[in-house]
Amino acid sequence: MKYELPKLPYAYDALEPFIDARTMEIHHTKHHQTYVTKLNEALTKHPAFAETTAGKPELESLEELLANLSAVPEDIRKAVQNHGGGHYNHSFFWRIMAPNSPTGDLPAQAGEPTGKIADAITKFFGDFAKFKEQFSNAAVSVFGSGWAWLALSEQSESKGLSIITTSNQDNPISQGLKPLLGLDIWEHAYYLKYQNRRSEYIEAWWNVVNWNEVEKLFI
Ligand code: MN
Repeated sequence: MKYELPKLPYAYDALEPFIDARTMEIHHTKHHQTYVTKLNEALTKHPAFAETTAGKPELESLEELLANLSAVPEDIRKAVQNHGGGHYNHSFFWRIMAPNSPTGDLPAQAGEPTGKIADAITKFFGDFAKFKEQFSNAAVSVFGSGWAWLALSEQSESKGLSIITTSNQDNPISQGLKPLLGLDIWEHAYYLKYQNRRSEYIEAWWNVVNWNEVEKLFI
């Protein structure tokens, strides 16, 4: 199978002013595209292995690869981890963001979750403000390039939420966790608008989190 760059579910300028259109366009058409291209290149070296996920929806087959990297032939394992992870993480990232209002006016509760995910966040972190602070601190503290995640452990009887960070394009799936929310903190995600001010990018990003999609992933 060949992986393909997914279309964004909104226009490049839809997340303005929090994430600028130029950053979104380069991030999607250049960075994300490169992960897709390099993942496909790696898999052509092992067509029989690539066939093991043939016919499945893209994200499902990527989840299988990332959940079981030790099953990937050794000479392409790193490429699958990095570029397969890159393709997965970016597809996920586009999905869990959205403009908060079609008119650009933010509702009073912009960036706050509702429903079961809101209840779970309160249960595990105290309240939304505390969760946001912990997540932001984790994201700011990542050394180099990586991601911050809200992840779900489905192993325990009571669904457990945790905040974790990963390096490069690694994903919680490879640790047996399900990602519910993810923030790209590679410089390419914010450098044009925010330069070295990672914490400003993180603060702005909360305004474009699509909590409806996070809720769908959670329940
Ligand atoms: Mn990125």
